[in-house]
Amino acid sequence: SSASSTFLPKHGKSEEIDTQDGNSIIPISLNEGVSSKLLQKMVHDALVWCSLHGLVVGDKNNQRSGKVPGVGIVHAPIALLPMSFAQRHFLQACELTPIFNELVDRVSLDGNFLQDSLSRTKKVDAFTSRLLDIHSKMLETNKKEEIRLGLHRSDYMLDAQSKDLLQIELNTISCSFPGLSCLVSEFHRYLLNHYGGDLKLDSTRVPENMASTRYAEALAKAWKEYNNARAVIMIVVQTEERNMYDQHWLCSILKEKYGVMTIQKTLAEIATEGRLQPDGTLLINDQVVAVIYFRAGYTPNDYPSESEWSARLLMEQSTAIKCPSISYHLAGTKKIQQELAKPNVLERFLDDKDDVTKLRKCFAGLWSLDDSKIMKDVMERPELFVLKPQREGGGNNIYGDDVKQMLLKLQKEGSEELAAYILMQRIFPTESPAFLVQDGILHEEHVISELGIYGAYLRNKDKVIVNEQCGYLTRTKVSSSNEGGVVAGFAVLDSVYLT
Ligand code: ADP
Ligand code: MG
Ligand code: MG
Repeated sequence: SSASSTFLPKHGKSEEIDTQDGNSIIPISLNEGVSSKLLQKMVHDALVWCSLHGLVVGDKNNQRSGKVPGVGIVHAPIALLPMSFAQRHFLQACELTPIFNELVDRVSLDGNFLQDSLSRTKKVDAFTSRLLDIHSKMLETNKKEEIRLGLHRSDYMLDAQSKDLLQIELNTISCSFPGLSCLVSEFHRYLLNHYGGDLKLDSTRVPENMASTRYAEALAKAWKEYNNARAVIMIVVQTEERNMYDQHWLCSILKEKYGVMTIQKTLAEIATEGRLQPDGTLLINDQVVAVIYFRAGYTPNDYPSESEWSARLLMEQSTAIKCPSISYHLAGTKKIQQELAKPNVLERFLDDKDDVTKLRKCFAGLWSLDDSKIMKDVMERPELFVLKPQREGGGNNIYGDDVKQMLLKLQKEGSEELAAYILMQRIFPTESPAFLVQDGILHEEHVISELGIYGAYLRNKDKVIVNEQCGYLTRTKVSSSNEGGVVAGFAVLDSVYLT
């Protein structure tokens, strides 16, 4: 029904709006049919709803907002209406989740594959090198993780030209927004229930999103496997975190639904308060830790001194369940993503041929920079590629003509330096108009979106206890912006409207 999606960004439904040569045209004028009075009413409702339901972040205009809960709160940046997305692509992404979960687990067990694939990167990237050192120490002592917990998020964009769902990356550490993303879906359903008649939209097309409860459930089940009723779940946090409410949602569900207590510690605090008992039990001020859930530790900024690294090592040496373990963390690096995309590599880790085919179908072009053929292509058309270092958290990639400049600079410094980066095909999703609400203000923009599917995996020795899809995150950003960080201010939280 074409009328039903008049107000929705048309991503994923691009069949209707593409011209013959594949160039998409903007389907509707931003204001067509929606009166500014109705818009203002919806924005007002949105702001009230977010405030009443905890769809909030720390306000960057308030200095204490990243440290003290309840101080300097502002609604999370959101899209007023959900993004239109083809149901088949959404289901495809959901279906891939347990396969990626299994893949991470298999890859994590192959210590030599991780070390070998990252050996050249190690020489030129100090951060990756430190992670690999911890990993080597675990290999040397033959440390085995019998209970393994992964809370991942695989991110995708829909390539406008090929109509393929392509993976951007697989995050295995500190996946953000399991707490807030489900609230965005709930908000969109609420808004469509109230205004759907006027907009000709159906709230039941926004799929249910259980990210926070599913993540909390996986953490609680891991805690149960550890089997110590007095133990806690420790969340490793940054010293300042404006996205703290996203984390507090999980803590609150863990306490209220599962009776599991959580503590929050920075790496520096763990360095001073943490110690191991002879049997490897991790104590933080005499409190036993069953599960360590990292919401920090993924960027070099989190390790300003040696104490933070000693804390990371201490945790890795302990018997606590680490989410992620150092192997899971490394399995989620961009270099490993690129290695897994090479011919015949997936086959080493997955037995099922159909699974291999499904994963490969969502892989974009990925190359290492020792590939001379691709280097020539990049120099000619740098705008078709993204240059990525081994970093997480947004804001690190290189685009456009900067790709060429950077490669020329690296080549001058010696070919070794190239090993710090991977090269990826740039994905161009369909642009569409949208209403974004940021800091209480409505913006009309042309946007593109990225869909993330949360996954949870828990096993104890041979027994797989959890391997499932846990809900979704949509991030929508102004199409002229390269990066997509929500907290960084590049993007807003969104959900999907299935078509
Ligand atoms: P990070 O781990 O820092 O989040 P990503 O690989 O997700 O790194 O890149 C950050 C952002 O850059 C993504 O959210 C996306 O908006 C954009 N991006 C990354 N890779 C591509 C690509 N191949 N094509 C287009 N945009 C991309
Ligand atoms: Mg990432
Ligand atoms: Mg990302």
